[in-house]
Amino acid sequence: MKTFKINNSETTQALGQRLGQIVSPGDVILLDGDLGAGKTTFTKGIALGLGIQRNIKSPTFTIIREYKTGRLPLYHMDVYRLEDGGGDELGLDEYFNGNGVCVIEWSQFVANELPKNHLTISFKRDDSNLDSTNRTITITASDAHYEGMMAQL
Ligand code: ADP
Ligand code: MG
Repeated sequence: MKTFKINNSETTQALGQRLGQIVSPGDVILLDGDLGAGKTTFTKGIALGLGIQRNIKSPTFTIIREYKTGRLPLYHMDVYRLEDGGGDELGLDEYFNGNGVCVIEWSQFVANELPKNHLTISFKRDDSNLDSTNRTITITASDAHYEGMMAQL
């Protein structure tokens, strides 16, 4: 486990960017935390690290957005609005088994459909004041592959 105390959104994005530079094909990154905690901001950083120039928009209504102009394809998912078992219909498995990088916001909503191995990144506001920019970012790795990745952050 690794913990970062962060006090501005640029630093959250920069951490995501470092991750985007080191991810490999088939990697699965889970982003958990409340609304506004920083999951999409972090994903913007991952995209930058992958060399994706397009602006990353939150896929809250589309559920999945694909970006194919970077070093690896990026599959950005926000499964907050997914009904129970809806991951089946979306064909999540094909994304997980593909050669792109899957980044999943609110992954707890598809907990039963996730691959066994992944990197989990939790975002937490340190403060109940919604204007506060302080966040605690906690990273956990499920296996040696993701531990190696975590060690480079
Ligand atoms: P989520 O995807 O988790 O709902 P977003 O990344 O869309 O969250 O929004 C986070 C909001 O909080 C943005 O408006 C961002 O500018 C702001 N913010 C303030 N401080 C931070 C921080 N340290 N890290 C990430 N975002 C921050
Ligand atoms: Mg979001």
